[in-house]
Amino acid sequence: MGKKHKFETNAIRTQIERSQFLEHSSPIYLTSSFVFEDAEDMRASFAEEKERNIYSRYSNPNSSEFIDKVCKMEGAEDGFAFASGMAAVFSTFAALLQSGDHILSARSIFGSTHSLFLNFFPKWNITHSYFKIDELDTIDQLVTPNTKILYAESPTNPGVDILDLEELGKFAKRHNLIFIVDNCFASPYLQQPIKFGADLVIHSGTKLMDGQGRVLAGITVGSVELIDKIYRFSRITGPSLSPFNAWLLSKSLETLAIRVDRHCGNALKVAKFLEQHKKVNWVKYPFLKSHPNYELAKKQMKAGGCVVAFELEGGLEAGRRFFDTIGLLSLSANLGDSRSIVTHPASTTHSKLSNEERNSVGITNGTVRISVGLEHIDDILDDIAQALK
Ligand SMILES: *Cc1c(COP(=O)(O)O)cnc(C)c1O
Repeated sequence: MGKKHKFETNAIRTQIERSQFLEHSSPIYLTSSFVFEDAEDMRASFAEEKERNIYSRYSNPNSSEFIDKVCKMEGAEDGFAFASGMAAVFSTFAALLQSGDHILSARSIFGSTHSLFLNFFPKWNITHSYFKIDELDTIDQLVTPNTKILYAESPTNPGVDILDLEELGKFAKRHNLIFIVDNCFASPYLQQPIKFGADLVIHSGTKLMDGQGRVLAGITVGSVELIDKIYRFSRITGPSLSPFNAWLLSKSLETLAIRVDRHCGNALKVAKFLEQHKKVNWVKYPFLKSHPNYELAKKQMKAGGCVVAFELEGGLEAGRRFFDTIGLLSLSANLGDSRSIVTHPASTTHSKLSNEERNSVGITNGTVRISVGLEHIDDILDDIAQALK
């Protein structure tokens, strides 16, 4: 082919080479291992003199297809696919860091990643410092001689704040840090952090990539050099994605662009509806003009994503009533699903934080997070309106 195709075309047309059956779409390779033709083939394969599948913990045609698609979407050279987003996060750090190393991270990060930094990495003498996203001008002071990684998410969860990825990319270059972005909230369709200087991009495939609430998956993509380190660690430690889930994800990615377009269209309508509602104190959505980083969001992202955060007048009590009255929308711990979901961060994902810590990541006791799905917008708005009554 040789021609450079566009995002949607790559998402569909990047696929495994056809087998003898000339199938149109990719089959599932549910096999633990692959056979060698003879003694020389076996020796050369293990000596890595040729690239081929040996064992599905190392590689499998279905995970390779998924990785190829995501690499094209993110503009990355290579990747490794994991059984969950957290397997990707953990393995990426564990593969790249030594005892004594230090991570510099934005404070607003996914709860389990925060827990990893706080409760587990100290076991291996890996420490971290957090910077506040509105204090980027002071992060120089947090860099130590042992700082190896700069870590961030944008938009953040659940505050949907936007970080300046280009600024962070330059900062990482200046200090010779590996810049890693968890791009899960945006999906590769809305934002490609490598363009802004990221060295590695992590996704939970569980969210918008699968988009239908059926699989757990994760992926890390970036340069050949860094991915090789992650691959060598992961093929031994075994967090690899199953071929079946990889197959499902490759299928899901074919429709990523049109699904995410609709998620964003619906989410913007929900955000605008909430903004004019008298029982709502504030609404945050990256593509609302009232968002503090609206201009930056427009620069970095194609659209605002599927998550809307807002605060009900009447705080926690009003929140509980809202959740008990909502009908169509699910109370569930996921996002980026075709089904709209509402959650209450203060009593769920962020319940272990103090009030002050919650405030520092943009959550109040009355904050509600909606992951806007793909149901008809009229039905979504009707349900929210009746629950607000
Ligand atoms: C869900 C999520 C993860 C973890 O992914 P899992 O697939 O649940 O392990 C990591 N980062 C972000 C931003 C997420 O939303």
